[in-house]
Amino acid sequence: MRYISTRGEAPALGFEDVLLTGLATDGGLYVPESLPHFSVEEIRSWRGLPYAELAYKVMYPFVEDAIPADDFRKMLDETYSVFSHQAVAPLVQLDTNEWVMELFRGPTLAFKDFALQLLGRLLDYVLEKRKQHVVIMGATSGDTGSAAIEGCRRCEHVDIFILHPYQRVSEVQRRQMTTVQGDNIHNIAVKGNFDDCQRMVKESFGNQSFLGGKTQLAAVNSINWARIMAQIVYYFQASLALGGPDRSMAFSVPTGNFGDIFAGYLAKKMGLPISQLVIATNRNDILHRFMSGNKYEQHQLEHTLSPSMDIMVSSNFERLLFDLHGRDGAAVKDLLERAAKGPVSIEDYRWKHARKLFDSDAVDDKTTCDTIRDIYEQNEYLLDPHTAIGVRAARNCRRDSAVPMITLGTAHPAKFPDAISESGLVVKPQLPAHMADLFEREERYTVLDNSVSEVQGFIAKHWKNA
Ligand SMILES: *Cc1c(COP(=O)(O)O)cnc(C)c1O
Repeated sequence: MRYISTRGEAPALGFEDVLLTGLATDGGLYVPESLPHFSVEEIRSWRGLPYAELAYKVMYPFVEDAIPADDFRKMLDETYSVFSHQAVAPLVQLDTNEWVMELFRGPTLAFKDFALQLLGRLLDYVLEKRKQHVVIMGATSGDTGSAAIEGCRRCEHVDIFILHPYQRVSEVQRRQMTTVQGDNIHNIAVKGNFDDCQRMVKESFGNQSFLGGKTQLAAVNSINWARIMAQIVYYFQASLALGGPDRSMAFSVPTGNFGDIFAGYLAKKMGLPISQLVIATNRNDILHRFMSGNKYEQHQLEHTLSPSMDIMVSSNFERLLFDLHGRDGAAVKDLLERAAKGPVSIEDYRWKHARKLFDSDAVDDKTTCDTIRDIYEQNEYLLDPHTAIGVRAARNCRRDSAVPMITLGTAHPAKFPDAISESGLVVKPQLPAHMADLFEREERYTVLDNSVSEVQGFIAKHWKNA
């Protein structure tokens, strides 16, 4: 399988190189040149498979040039055996034909574990083969950092440096990052905000001379193709559990960078019958505004009760725009260069096509809290604020009550206790047993000034063979 850039100018790459690259050299994102397609008979034959085995069936076409089948199977077995539920992605019923898929049974209690637990193993496998080393540098406002650290803690060929804004992530989120002990794990608290952290990462990828040519940077944010790939699997899993592929499904997806829902779009293109995909956003609603009015325009960042969806632009949306433009890289490049300067629209027939593929809704903090409270009162089931947005959007956008509606449950409620108490509930979400002592564990992090040279100097000095 070859991978091509959404901006049409960078060279096509194989899986190994795509794994180790961040952005393409032309500023685009890598996507598969063509997708595998599975027949209904083939998908049906997967019914009842354990999660790791299903993951193998869905993902192997993407990696087969780089990894022998047995090695890949072993990697998947290890990846998904660390989840705390035997079904890995269990379904919980909310109402007649309405479900939440719990994607928070991994080590850091958010869906990002599905991809990042695998990514760590993939990186180490490829780097061992090539006798190479990489430095992962990433910025986090919370969930990505902890999942990436957890995914890379046992990697021999990877040092990981995660930047978070000093005193601006929740205590649970900070402790999930800073209490993981390992020589290759480095937490940096930057005296700035999340955008400052992200800017430093971007600048460092653009000029890696501070590493002295002895190692290279690798990306763990959702522009990395391997993350999208791993998220396709659970759409198949949910469908098969509820009678697919012999009936179609609807999914509602709490959306920030458009990675998770893009995986659902790909599952559909690969042959899974999906009749509805709902983009659920919070007040940072650039995607909902685009879907309702064909205007793609950045607004100020709003801080909400669902911080993992607080974004101004959705980086993975570029991958959809590429398809909407008939995979014309030059057109995407032109559009996104204009979008960086001001509002843009796309041709009407392309936009109408997008509206056939997706529905959308934006949910504010008050409605998020109302939803958490309603669902708890109806079912004694606690939603985290991100999942609550998904459930609300699912109910608002639903087209056909005969089609099962599945909301992706993206985080465990104990990660976001503030939203639960703001919803007026007295119940306190409990951390699962494997994390019950989180507040007693020793923390390790370094506070640095809001200065890229200081951060780069720290990295140059602290990676393994520096
Ligand atoms: C990252 C995240 C999201 C958004 O996912 P995208 O792939 O960026 O759209 C939603 N909910 C939670 C809890 C997250 O951590």
